[in-house]
Amino acid sequence: MAKSGAKSGAKSGKLARPYRVTDGRRFRLSSIDPGDTRGFDSKRRARERLERDIEILGELQEKLYAQNQWALLLIFQAMDAAGKDSTIKHVMSGVNPQGCQVYSFKAPSPEELDHDFLWRSTYRLPERGRIGIFNRSYYEEVLVVRVHPELLARQRLPAELMTRDIWRERFEDINAFERYLARNGVVVRKFFLHVSREEQRKRFLERLDEPEKNWKFSLDDVRERRHWDEYMAAYEDAIRHTSSPHAPWYVVPADHKWFTRLVVVSAILDALSSLNLAFPSVEPDRMKELEAARVALANEAAPAAAQPAARRRGSA
Ligand code: ATP
Ligand code: MG
Repeated sequence: MAKSGAKSGAKSGKLARPYRVTDGRRFRLSSIDPGDTRGFDSKRRARERLERDIEILGELQEKLYAQNQWALLLIFQAMDAAGKDSTIKHVMSGVNPQGCQVYSFKAPSPEELDHDFLWRSTYRLPERGRIGIFNRSYYEEVLVVRVHPELLARQRLPAELMTRDIWRERFEDINAFERYLARNGVVVRKFFLHVSREEQRKRFLERLDEPEKNWKFSLDDVRERRHWDEYMAAYEDAIRHTSSPHAPWYVVPADHKWFTRLVVVSAILDALSSLNLAFPSVEPDRMKELEAARVALANEAAPAAAQPAARRRGSA
């Protein structure tokens, strides 16, 4: 089973390809339908496939960890209630928690605002062998900050640097940063969970109607919803300017959570199965040491196993 990981991972990865953007110049958000469930008419079949893919992901992650060379950075961006949290929870359910780090980026603290905008992300990057998840990310700097210019004012940039080119410059800086990561063995995959405005409305209503979901409801989220079109324009522009073969965006239909999860796992399998992951092989000298250790342990086990019987005889 373990040997088949890369092969079946590559096969599963195909499901995500129609949603992958590697060159954004002609990208239009309207080309992706949030309600799409391509080829999956039954939830049951999707659930079976998700279970299998999550198992393959677990196998590939073990190799990633053991090989300790590559790191995988997964970035999740979305409007509220698009399902970031539950996607992360489901997709990573088969992964050893020791090999995984999740960080949720909130509005920057005063200390973070005292630095350049990428500063707070750099020391949360995953180590080699790990999967790092950014629940929101430095992309907020060209999304929420673009929609609310007062947030940019709080960053206290020198006036001569706050020109109308600032968003283009930020895209350039993000592209340079992601190229740098790619060249250092950090594989970057970015997900925009594309939910429709109507589905968001329904999910907010559910949060109000169901007592166990009340805690999730936030008036701020409803306020942000009023800026829907501005957000969509900002997302489209960000995807157009920051998609690349080494750090592609996946624009994932998000009106059906089960389909979102399937596409996200597929994209991760596609990334991991392209890395030639393998358990480190053991040198001949080291093999001899292992064999000697095995013999020593086997010989030690025999008297220890006999002990309880001897004790019983002694006490009789
Ligand atoms: P959930 O609501 O599911 O718990 P969330 O990611 O929406 O998850 P919140 O605490 O509600 O978490 O929101 C975090 C807020 O922080 C978002 O409104 C986001 O836009 C904001 N934020 C994140 N990064 C930045 C940034 N660089 N500048 C300004 N605001 C930011
Ligand atoms: Mg929120």
